[in-house]
Amino acid sequence: MKKTEKKTGREKGLQELDKLHVWHPFTQMSEWEKSDPLIIEKGRGNYLIDMNGKRYLDGVSSLWVNVHGHGKRRIDTAIKRQLDRIAHSTLLGLANVPSIELAKKLVDIAPRGLKKVFYSDNGSTAVEIALKMAFQYWEQAHDNFEKKKFIAFTGAYHGDTFGSMSVGEIDIFVKKYRPLLFSTLRAPYPYCYRCPVEKDRKDCKTACLEVFEETLKKHSHELAACVIEPLVQGAAGMITSPPGFLKEVRRLTKKYNVLLIADEVAVGFGRTGHMFACDAEGVTPDFLCLAKGITGGYMPLAATLTTEKIYRTFLGEYAEYKAFFHGHTYTGNPLGCAAAIANLDIFEKEEVIKNLKPRIALFKKLLKDFESLNHVGEVRQLGLIAGIELVKDKASKEPFAPKDRIGSLVSTDARESGLLIRPLGDVLVIMPPLSIKEAELKRICKIVYDSIREITG
Ligand code: PMP
Repeated sequence: MKKTEKKTGREKGLQELDKLHVWHPFTQMSEWEKSDPLIIEKGRGNYLIDMNGKRYLDGVSSLWVNVHGHGKRRIDTAIKRQLDRIAHSTLLGLANVPSIELAKKLVDIAPRGLKKVFYSDNGSTAVEIALKMAFQYWEQAHDNFEKKKFIAFTGAYHGDTFGSMSVGEIDIFVKKYRPLLFSTLRAPYPYCYRCPVEKDRKDCKTACLEVFEETLKKHSHELAACVIEPLVQGAAGMITSPPGFLKEVRRLTKKYNVLLIADEVAVGFGRTGHMFACDAEGVTPDFLCLAKGITGGYMPLAATLTTEKIYRTFLGEYAEYKAFFHGHTYTGNPLGCAAAIANLDIFEKEEVIKNLKPRIALFKKLLKDFESLNHVGEVRQLGLIAGIELVKDKASKEPFAPKDRIGSLVSTDARESGLLIRPLGDVLVIMPPLSIKEAELKRICKIVYDSIREITG
């Protein structure tokens, strides 16, 4: 038997096994079962490689996580070195070397005033932890049992656990579970292309913030915290907020004595052109939630950072039970922390943020061309994040029918040309690793452009 035939046989076998046993996330499995799943076997630089050796540009950073490319030597080596020492030991009653060193590094680069690091292993838990800490803070610091609600924004997505779903709003993700969720107050997010307060964009500078302030004024006595995806709402369709919005949210939350939770799970670690989105507006939240890019996209690790002031309210005698009774088995996993330290070292040594600037400018220029396409309603971009919203009718902004699956068709077409992207409904997402080269960025944009034309005509 030839080598290629053997390989194809192995691929077929794995495809069948996948369909038999693996239940994929956010996937209608009846469609999946009819498909021939693409199986990724390797990754090199900004490419993913399938079992036949075909290379695909990783256009969404393997779901917004990869930062410096695949097979980045410094991270590979850091993990291997750590593996030679120990793969895992617990943070319950013990400390470990990389989790301490990483905490120091995170505190050094985070917005000033965030001094304490609580580890977990994914974005949802990073948010869940901030919600629980904020809730417990009011009770323990002020004997205030009334402040037990949260305010979040329209279109918010903060994860798939019950707490994070409760502050989220996107119907398809949370609707079925609503009877099980706690109620959250909602403020309009400035999705200016489809304005949530129905104001004409030209006249509007602060309509969303006015509603936000009114709600805070009315409910501050019962509000523990506000949760926001700073600068860009990810899952809602890469919706960028107008400059100054985040800063105002911080000012108002302070004014009305409500804590601020910045969910930087998607936007942290350079994606916006800043290390953290909060840096862009000089904002220090009370909680900073980090995951995805924290390890350069290598390992499941997350961190919730908070202030000394909040931390202190959890101190007391053992029997007062003021401790934070929360912890996941793999909390502070040494392999993940070693990868994260290497990730941060690369940022520093390779001056990643500074070197991003010309590529961000190029990306902006390339995306401009999309605006003239007949079915492109809006192009949103910040840093190396872009959302291209496809519409049936440009003048009326009428969306395509969900059954048309336009976003999905365009992405499938792009795959044929060697680019992997995953849309959010009819919003095409481009979010390559920060290591993307100029020529690769050009190629990504060309493929997406051609695929939009191919599918929408
Ligand atoms: N918050 C935001 C803003 C996210 O984009 C995501 C994931 N896309 C999450 C939280 C949840 O992260 P995870 O999937 O790691 O639980």
